[in-house]
Amino acid sequence: MSAVHKAVITIDQGTTSTRAIVFDSVFAPVFTAQEEYPQHYPRPGWVEHDPEDIWQTTVSTLKQAMAYCRENAIEIAGIGLVNQRETTLVWDRETGKTLYPAIVWQDRRTAHQCHKLKHKEEWLHQRTGLRCDPYFSATKICWILDNVPHARERAEAGELAFGTIDSFLIWRLTGGKQHLTDTTNASRTNLFNINDMNWDNDLLALFDVPASLLPEVKNCADDFGKLDTTEFGESIPICGVAGDQQAALIGQGCYKMGEAKTTFGTGCFALVNSGSEPAFSEQNLLTTVAYTLNGKTCYAMEGSIFVAGAAIQWLRDSLGILPCAADSEKLARQVEEDHQVVVVPAFTGLGAPYWEPLARGAIFGLTRGSTAAHVVRATLESVSYQTQDLLNAMRCDGIDTTTMNVDGGMVQNSWFCQFLANTLDITVNRPKVMETTALGAAYLAGLHAGLKDNIEDFAALNPQDSTFEPEVDDILKKKRQHRWQAAVKATLIMAE
Ligand code: ADP
Repeated sequence: MSAVHKAVITIDQGTTSTRAIVFDSVFAPVFTAQEEYPQHYPRPGWVEHDPEDIWQTTVSTLKQAMAYCRENAIEIAGIGLVNQRETTLVWDRETGKTLYPAIVWQDRRTAHQCHKLKHKEEWLHQRTGLRCDPYFSATKICWILDNVPHARERAEAGELAFGTIDSFLIWRLTGGKQHLTDTTNASRTNLFNINDMNWDNDLLALFDVPASLLPEVKNCADDFGKLDTTEFGESIPICGVAGDQQAALIGQGCYKMGEAKTTFGTGCFALVNSGSEPAFSEQNLLTTVAYTLNGKTCYAMEGSIFVAGAAIQWLRDSLGILPCAADSEKLARQVEEDHQVVVVPAFTGLGAPYWEPLARGAIFGLTRGSTAAHVVRATLESVSYQTQDLLNAMRCDGIDTTTMNVDGGMVQNSWFCQFLANTLDITVNRPKVMETTALGAAYLAGLHAGLKDNIEDFAALNPQDSTFEPEVDDILKKKRQHRWQAAVKATLIMAE
């Protein structure tokens, strides 16, 4: 084993699993503990997590990572925390008990409430960078307050706390001592003004959310309290926090304006660094906080797609036509290039640039000869087509990307990366460390712990490992594009 002395542990609380990863002094991952946990779909369009699953997998994986450090005489300089964003929890400040399961970012139960607020959309966009969509936390909080008995009166009496997953975990990890969040997570709630970087009273009034519920908002590399010694035995500082997509931008080293990354995990998220002023899209893209360091904020423009790897999980778990996610590569390679099957994976509506929460998934172009392999390949292809829709929208906003840095679980699939390069007609770069979300949080924690002086010092630490150059057949590309657009149009008509 290499001589490792100081390390950072990242807790990566994702949508499908929780990981704790030890990064050594040169920010290479040297140990990973990972635990999956169940997804709950109590009604069509609803997605929930059991908060105790989130907590238990966090405790268990973190303890494994701490044990690894102990056994290898590694000093833990700090803990980074990166999380699924927008997912909403409300808990009792006295007991720490949650009032309701976590309402997950994919959940669409508040679609009608959002629809009623559509007339405020432009006003909302200018303040928050977001849209009036069930995706964001505000309407989810309101739903909990209105549907759990006595929740609203208890919130107004100051007895309850709201948090995205970062806040909830910081609360629990510090033994209930800290109620904090960072600017990236706050910027996904629809309650945070990204121009003046504060919770906004007008937004709180619009969504009927009492201010007493809210956590204090900190920089991304900051003091978020220390581990509770009763639970963890050691009092290690939590000192880097960011939402998963912003952390991936940091982990990919995109610190200059115009630098971009796309993460293909459960969903797919393309973020481009837009510098020190918020830039607002005319193409239905979001504006979000990329990171705040020492009070200085860098912004990003974001395209969000709700279903990417989640569709592969659906093939595996619901349809049962895929033994494991990795087998999708082998099956995709078996299918002829000019097949006609198109999958639109709009299980939880369509995100950017369509924003139709009532759209639902569809499969087109089936023949008697269609096989499971066709459906698998068409599902992988659909993620590329949706990414192309995002890039086209960015282009219309004047952002032209000539290369794309990719990461997330799906990019282990080299066939997918090549198809993506062909569809987008640009070079696709896959980095050496693919766990860029965890790496980004490790950089933030490392920065606060003094392992580096500036964020730019991390830029060279995660070089590209594989490059996929486009191999374009123009006629085939046009045909595929036409089929995809027709299929999306049909699903949008069905949603009306
Ligand atoms: P998250 O952080 O959102 O939980 P990850 O980045 O861990 O997601 O990626 C997990 C997703 O990647 C799963 O939805 C899974 O279906 C998909 N996935 C994993 N391996 C492959 C593969 N070889 N090909 C296609 N998809 C894959």
